[in-house]
Amino acid sequence: MGSGPAGLTAAIYTARANLHPLVIEGEPSSDSDQPGGQLMLTTEVENYPGFEDGIMGPELMARFRGQAARFGAGYLTAKASRVDFSARPFGIWVGDPEAPEPTYRARSVIVATGARSLMLGLPSEARLLGHGVSTCATCDGFFFRGQHIAVVGGGDSAMEEAIFLTKFGERVTVIHRRKELRASKIMQDRAFRNPKIDFRWDSVVTEILGDGAVSGVRLRDVSSGDESTLDLGGLFVAIGHAPNTDLFAGQLDMDQNGYITTHDGSRTSVEGVFASGDVQDSVYRQAVTAAGSGCMAAIDAERWLEAADHAAEQARAQS
Ligand SMILES: Cc1cc2nc3c(=O)[nH]c(=O)nc-3n(C[C@H](O)[C@H](O)[C@H](O)COP(=O)(O)OP(=O)(O)OC[C@H]3O[C@@H](n4cnc5c(N)ncnc54)[C@H](O)[C@@H]3O)c2cc1C
Repeated sequence: MGSGPAGLTAAIYTARANLHPLVIEGEPSSDSDQPGGQLMLTTEVENYPGFEDGIMGPELMARFRGQAARFGAGYLTAKASRVDFSARPFGIWVGDPEAPEPTYRARSVIVATGARSLMLGLPSEARLLGHGVSTCATCDGFFFRGQHIAVVGGGDSAMEEAIFLTKFGERVTVIHRRKELRASKIMQDRAFRNPKIDFRWDSVVTEILGDGAVSGVRLRDVSSGDESTLDLGGLFVAIGHAPNTDLFAGQLDMDQNGYITTHDGSRTSVEGVFASGDVQDSVYRQAVTAAGSGCMAAIDAERWLEAADHAAEQARAQS
């Protein structure tokens, strides 16, 4: 389930292992929650190994998809609307979740439904995403060398992003809607001590400025109502991430933030259900780590099916 780097890598491996995978790839939308996943929202990807000149996100995902198709993976362009992991074979519904019978039954499921960055929700943000607006400093910081960069947010991830971005930007401004940060004391201290970081307190971004590339932001002071503009080369939105796991509530164990918990590789709390990629990783959140964990889930699923077949054969022979 899912056709980002994790789901499609799992599809390549399971197809080449002759397991005839069906990829339930998601539905077209303007969000990260679409076939191809989060990389469909970005432009240049420069850190995926094998592409020394970089590659556009959507083209990279088209290549993943084609590679899995070459080995026989099937695709369904739809979202799963319900799952039942309490009975075997597992049930997956597509379309009406109230339908009495599942649309598909599967002996094993790899969950790779990814995650999404929480966004400000401004039309200008959607227009400039991948053109100066980013949600990932590790991915895009390098593009903003020598520029004035801003980070929106006040938590640990926002501080991490801001500190990392000082390696590239000539100045990094943290824009936060309150007077104080939510980040841990240690992260606050690190950010306050960094001479390249300054803060705009009590401020919200009301518009991102620029035509084709970010040139600045319009800010509103939430206590005085005053408006101002800030010239920028790039804006990083760091107000949080959410895994796409609503579907699995009550069926798979998750951590306090809703990420699926895995053990012994990609195993979940239900035998035969495996999880890979950002849906179970709140730490690394990279295409290459998602692809790597998709490979792990495929190998785990293949070995689990093999062991289950072997056990069933032995039970038959003994009876
Ligand atoms: C703007 C942006 C730029 C980025 N740039 C880079 C970069 O340069 N380098 C890098 O390494 N990483 C980058 N990342 C991070 C990278 O995109 C993610 O780490 C990676 O895509 C995670 O892969 P995934 O397969 O786990 O999930 P995702 O890519 O999130 O894919 C999830 C998939 O699940 C599907 N899905 C969701 N719900 C359902 C459902 N109910 N039924 C069926 N399918 C469902 C979606 O349609 C999608 O196909 C970027 C992220 C963003 C947002």
